[in-house]
Amino acid sequence: MSGHMTPEEFRRYGRQVVDWIADYQEKIESYPVLSRVRPGEVLEALPEHPPEHGEGFEAVLADLDRVIMPGVTHWQHPSYFAYFPANASGPAILGDLLSAGLGVQGMLWATSPACTELETRVTDWLAELLDLPAGFRSGGAGGGVIQDSASSAALVAVLAALRRADGGAAGREGITRRHTLYISSQTHSAMEKAAGIAGIGAGNVRTVDVDPATLAMDPAHLDALLAEDAAAGALPVLVCATVGTTSTTAVDPVAGIGEVCRRHGVWLHVDAAYAGVAAVCPELRWVNDGLAGNADSYATNPHKWLLTNFDCTVLWVADRAPLIGALSILPEYLRNQASASGEVIDYRDWQISLGRRFRALKLWSVIRWYGAEGLREHVRTGIRLAAGLASWIREDPAFELHDHHPFGLVCFRPRWDGLPDAEADAATLELMRRLNASGDLYLTHTKVGGRVLLRMAIGAPATGAEHVRAAWRRITEEAGAGA
Ligand code: PLP
Repeated sequence: MSGHMTPEEFRRYGRQVVDWIADYQEKIESYPVLSRVRPGEVLEALPEHPPEHGEGFEAVLADLDRVIMPGVTHWQHPSYFAYFPANASGPAILGDLLSAGLGVQGMLWATSPACTELETRVTDWLAELLDLPAGFRSGGAGGGVIQDSASSAALVAVLAALRRADGGAAGREGITRRHTLYISSQTHSAMEKAAGIAGIGAGNVRTVDVDPATLAMDPAHLDALLAEDAAAGALPVLVCATVGTTSTTAVDPVAGIGEVCRRHGVWLHVDAAYAGVAAVCPELRWVNDGLAGNADSYATNPHKWLLTNFDCTVLWVADRAPLIGALSILPEYLRNQASASGEVIDYRDWQISLGRRFRALKLWSVIRWYGAEGLREHVRTGIRLAAGLASWIREDPAFELHDHHPFGLVCFRPRWDGLPDAEADAATLELMRRLNASGDLYLTHTKVGGRVLLRMAIGAPATGAEHVRAAWRRITEEAGAGA
């Protein structure tokens, strides 16, 4: 078993693998949602040394069941409600398999023209499906690109913004004066990380106030901070607004923030990693409010809620010139006629790494399989189920609902009448621990105003009304037992 796998062998094992995945999909509800292994258990079950002689693929499949599966948390389980969903779907899995099968490395247009041109087409398609501003389409100055994650999209946006702010000085000489970046307490930590990586420094990340009720960024405070920093000689680089924050899906006022950014000449990045895809539904297009004419970059993750398995973040820019200016570098070995002609896109200039996978295939497969109506139906199902859950919570005097739940996330907590806040929070966390340990469902938590809230994010493709009902029953039973 030491030679290459022949096409005939590939056909045989490939069928086994596809059957294995289909069986997994059929029996996923029989697994505990959250893996129960203890730290080190999977590691110990794996041989310390690699094999000298090749083994049959049957051996891999056997170990998949024996060693790997106990250590898997089942993100596609219909009772998975933790973090945000990470949707996988049949067409996405098959699109990814095709990408692996082709083994294309699409760093340049020339290294596989279809890899580039399909990506251009599907990012334009998604911009159309979401009704994003026309300037984000590839036909004008802007365009879209698939990144591995919203975190990478944030870093790329910071680098493009830096390039626009200082004309490339930081790229040439390093950062020689104080640069600043603006977030709120609700912004995803990826932005602070990006500021650190880009050399702006976590200490120069300024935290703009939020409205205590809505948790939305306050444009007036942003305006004041920008003015103060500019007066002190700093160079403001980027403001990050969020549509659908990680903690509670709060929505920043993009139009108001954009007006401030334009006045101060600062790049506006809008992070809509989770909620942006909701705009496939016309009734949810308000999530795009304020983007047109304001957002310099915008990112959303089909790999969260739009049925496309990880990794697939789409980043759009209104003007690709600063992005390419920041990230393009041309060693001799990458020179080629097509790039020199200026007629093609080389997406290596739109991302951190050189190499890139053929990720457009899975997004293309998803959009073609579901069509706009299928995508809308998926988003609407998550929202409908979340609204139902929120109504049960609201009606239950033993629970308190966080009253903002426009998407698939619902935040709440038991009231634990009579307990001081710290003890009530500890009881909420203990309730979550017991529920998750039961294997029946998986929830996570956040803190708002210093108080612990449970987060229940609905949006796995297999989740139906019966799963949400069963989860709510388990939560109320377990809270009753712990009271
Ligand atoms: N931004 C927001 C608003 C998020 O909710 C998340 C993840 O939940 C991220 C960024 C990071 O996403 P990724 O895992 O794609 O880097």
